[in-house]
Amino acid sequence: MIYLDHNATTPVDQRVIEVMEPYFRETFGNPSSGHQIGQKAREGMERSRIQVASFLGCGSEEVIFTSSGTESDNLAIKGFALAYKDQGDHIITSKIEHEAVLNSCKKLEGLGFRVTYLSVDKMGRVDPGEVKKEIAEGTLLISIMYANNEVGTIQPLQEIGKTAKERSIAFHTDAVQAVGKIESKVNVIGCDLLSLSAHKIYGPKGVGALYIRKGFSLSPLLHGGPHERRLRAGTENVPGIVGLGKACEIASMEMEEEGKRLRSLRNRILEGLKKDGVKFTLNTPVDDPEESLPGTLNISFAGIEGEALLQALDLEGISVSTGSACESGSIDPSHVLFAMGISRMVAKGAIRISLGRGNTQEEIDKVIEILPKLVKRLIS
Ligand SMILES: *Cc1c(COP(=O)(O)O)cnc(C)c1O
Repeated sequence: MIYLDHNATTPVDQRVIEVMEPYFRETFGNPSSGHQIGQKAREGMERSRIQVASFLGCGSEEVIFTSSGTESDNLAIKGFALAYKDQGDHIITSKIEHEAVLNSCKKLEGLGFRVTYLSVDKMGRVDPGEVKKEIAEGTLLISIMYANNEVGTIQPLQEIGKTAKERSIAFHTDAVQAVGKIESKVNVIGCDLLSLSAHKIYGPKGVGALYIRKGFSLSPLLHGGPHERRLRAGTENVPGIVGLGKACEIASMEMEEEGKRLRSLRNRILEGLKKDGVKFTLNTPVDDPEESLPGTLNISFAGIEGEALLQALDLEGISVSTGSACESGSIDPSHVLFAMGISRMVAKGAIRISLGRGNTQEEIDKVIEILPKLVKRLIS
């Protein structure tokens, strides 16, 4: 099997599994318990908080653990809007956000908030000038993702962050796809809230984190005990949290070199396809390394259905996706490609290849041997 769907999820790194193990067994205590087994579990959890904080360049008291990237996005957006509803009613986001952001915004619209969904250019970039233009009386929050999950485009967050700061508007970023792949220090980005998820960075599923800049308050979504600074009730997923900390530590050590490796594998795919003469359209900006995630490649083949190509590749043991995992199987073309102005025909022929730690040059060579053959077969 050749797994090329790392933006959907990643396998758990062996080193992560090893640090999690004891927390299923002898260190199973409830971190809120006063006895030694509980306090040992708490120590593991707090060590992880420090690892996540050092990864993001923030204080550990600014990190809370959640159940997922989705929950972090929900808490950041709904939690912020509800906490500050007396000060405004307007949110600015983009049309290419993950459903966790888009549907949180939709929910707020139902509660009377106004939401501006910014357009993007052909390569999926938000124009920071547009963000500035849309700021109005009552704008409370700007939420723009760091890197897109379907096409890999990196957004100009520093400029947006600067604008947000100048105008005293809170700035959230869904950095689920970016962390562990590109520089994600919160003070470099200039964000006030940042969402991340463990299973996209070789950690376990069902655990995420939210960075909340000191001084910002949120209205909790779950009500119960005083866990996580009263922002997220419920006994913490200690093994998962410990795994997330380790995943962050590994990513920070290996990110730079791994990025170069993935970029060169991605180039190898593109060169292989060009050499073969198979016609394709690029939906990912690849010329400048600053423009997209190193391992993401979204390409369309005219005249074929991405879904059919996915199935044909799967029969050959190669796992890719069409757009996002959440949208696969749906008949509508991706909302991201649609917002980029890509025609319905081209969007339907899109597949996403997302490379990761396990992929080797030999695997990529196999892919560039098989992929053009399948495309030609599907066209004819
Ligand atoms: C995967 C993903 C999420 C959701 O994270 P989960 O932990 O799977 O809930 C949110 N945003 C982006 C950009 C993602 O890629």
